[in-house]
Amino acid sequence: MAPAPHRLTVLVPTPAHSALGSLLHYDSELPLTPGTLVRVPLGQRELLGVVWDDANEADAPPDGTVLKPIVAVLDGVPPLGPGWRRLVDFTARYYQRATGEVALAALPPALRGLDTTQLARRLKRRQRPLAPPDRPPRAEASAPGATPAQAPRAEQLTEPVAAATPQPLTPEQAAALADFESSAEPALLFGVTGSGKTEVYLQAVQRLLAREPQAQALVMVPEINLTPQLEARFRDRFAHHGPQVVVSMHSGMTGPQRLQSWLAAHLEEARIVLGTRMAVFASLPALRLIVVDEEHDPSYKQQEGARYSARDLAIYRAKLESTSETPCRVMLGSATPSLETWHHSRPAVDGGRYRRLSLSHRIGQANGLAGDLPTLRLVNMAHQPRHTVLSGPLMAAIAERIARGEQAMVFLNRRGYAPVLHCGGCGWKSDCAHCSAYRVFHKIDRTLRCHHCGFTERVPRACPVCGNPDIAPIGRGTEQIEEQLGALLADVRRPDGQPVRVARIDADTTRHKGALASQLADVHAGDVDVLVGTQMIAKGHDFRRITLVAAVNPDTALFSSDFRAPERLFSLLLQAAGRAGRDAAYLAQQGTVSEMWLQTHHKDHPLYAALRQHDYPAFADQQLTERAQAGLPPFSFQALVRADARTQQAAQAFLTAASAATDALPGAEHVTRYPAVPMTLQRVANVERAQLLLESPSRQALQRFLAAWQPVLRATRQGPEGKGVIRWAVDVDPLAI
Ligand code: ADP
Ligand code: ZN
Ligand code: ZN
Repeated sequence: MAPAPHRLTVLVPTPAHSALGSLLHYDSELPLTPGTLVRVPLGQRELLGVVWDDANEADAPPDGTVLKPIVAVLDGVPPLGPGWRRLVDFTARYYQRATGEVALAALPPALRGLDTTQLARRLKRRQRPLAPPDRPPRAEASAPGATPAQAPRAEQLTEPVAAATPQPLTPEQAAALADFESSAEPALLFGVTGSGKTEVYLQAVQRLLAREPQAQALVMVPEINLTPQLEARFRDRFAHHGPQVVVSMHSGMTGPQRLQSWLAAHLEEARIVLGTRMAVFASLPALRLIVVDEEHDPSYKQQEGARYSARDLAIYRAKLESTSETPCRVMLGSATPSLETWHHSRPAVDGGRYRRLSLSHRIGQANGLAGDLPTLRLVNMAHQPRHTVLSGPLMAAIAERIARGEQAMVFLNRRGYAPVLHCGGCGWKSDCAHCSAYRVFHKIDRTLRCHHCGFTERVPRACPVCGNPDIAPIGRGTEQIEEQLGALLADVRRPDGQPVRVARIDADTTRHKGALASQLADVHAGDVDVLVGTQMIAKGHDFRRITLVAAVNPDTALFSSDFRAPERLFSLLLQAAGRAGRDAAYLAQQGTVSEMWLQTHHKDHPLYAALRQHDYPAFADQQLTERAQAGLPPFSFQALVRADARTQQAAQAFLTAASAATDALPGAEHVTRYPAVPMTLQRVANVERAQLLLESPSRQALQRFLAAWQPVLRATRQGPEGKGVIRWAVDVDPLAI
């Protein structure tokens, strides 16, 4: 056979930091466009690869070299477009990972195993999704792990839903949307909870599709399972476009479901992709609008592999996908924007890179900012009896709400019964044998559980060290709050004379599929009077009858060593407050106002003062002033190098050695390199963890330095100082340092 005439560069997933690059060369009988999906041999295996733009010619094998031929071309799907490919290139470069790893991680996992025939079969099956004759009609929907989100789609196929008519926008909403459409910059929709941000997203998408019926929009949310209502609103609003118009992308979906969504987007059948951070990599050839809801949410940051920020990539992607004729716009939305985003939206600073659109009133309440939102009540815990968990004034207020038929929500960001068990005799604490952390006491099944490595044991009858039978919990978790509420409210009656019903929602109660949805449904149906939970209940949910929200112990975050802790606390408390009094008509009918209660030892703390005023801008400006003085982000740029090893010494020795001879690297003069230190959580599952922080006033200098440092890190890992190192990774723009 004559040698194949076409030489291709193909991206394959090679292991992180392997000497083998992720761009390999193969021969093909046909020329193939960049972006084409192929199957190629690599060692003993056959892998999915993506034909890439011709990379550095210097890497190309010399003419005449016989290359392995590609195995197959997945020509059933069109090639991935230039916008998508440049996003992958950028992500790999910026977050210091192999391009092949990023590209393949960005594709649906189910695609990896399919050969040409299997793919063709899948594609064919898609064309008649109603009732394939060779399969029972509902087989797919009842597959294990099918999400509730899939159900409405099936119904819409048989019973077309009329277009849900859009609400007329309030003047504020209309102004925000007009402002957005008349500008070109990324926009920040800054709106208090319940001010109608979602309605603005919906209508931005609607108007886009009215102008350009073939356009596509990407709508990102932090955790889709926590906001089923949002998904329902999008599906309802766009149902008249057909069953595939809105597709979801999140990790709760099965492989086949994700592939289905991915294909619908890539083949331009879906107009709207609704998903979590992974959706930022969806192939959307006609992408014109990206919405990032709750843009401040930490879950937009990927915490393994390429540690990307989907929010930041959304901004970059919009730029990449824009041409002068077909701009791609991006809208970030939040009631408590990240300080990075807020900073970019300050007109006086930094040239105002983002346009700020404000919604300052809750829907249905137009009498000014603070009046719309829950009133803040602080309980000074210094005046309460020692060891009080739920104070008298708070309990009285909750009882009063229940007696009127209203609901209350009690929030504590710690699950389990108590964070630690303790022996007063010898000082023993319930630490984990494998981690530098305590095991949490779960009273419900009398276990001690490590929340980091999962190590679980029955609670000992007596202190394992001294035999003292009197071991006691210290601190509190949601289980304990639930128990105490039950006891303290035992004599309170609902308007119908029934006893109070307390329910708890946290990671422990929602392990099983569908559990969260059914527990939330109970709250919405009014079958719950007091809801206890972790941050899971603080975000997003549109509870109509909750009029009181309480944070039991918010103080701990005030004095954290993490400079982002105040930002996160403020945002979480304001989010939690946003669960109360969402329905103006209900408040009016009850003749009541909503309240947010905080139990604190620091009632004069400036953070609580800003919270009392619901004054995010004041809080943000104060925080930004502090950050500017300390040279912290967004006034500097950071990267962390982390190393895992059998011993702390080995982890640190590797980092120290790798950073020793770096003065001559490009950018080094602008990059501060801090000494290697143990991570805050030093040991997890018997692995010791260390980190080294880099900081620079210049993003470019930091990027240049990191790129040049990669080979040094790899070489160090191979050398004597790399002994005992299990893995290392770079985290650019880390969220926790
Ligand atoms: P946010 O996303 O800012 O929390 P939502 O968009 O969920 O706010 O709006 C809060 C409530 O107000 C929802 O029940 C929504 O249906 C309603 N709403 C939003 N915009 C309008 C409008 N223009 N007219 C009437 N009701 C609206
Ligand atoms: Zn003891
Ligand atoms: Zn552990």
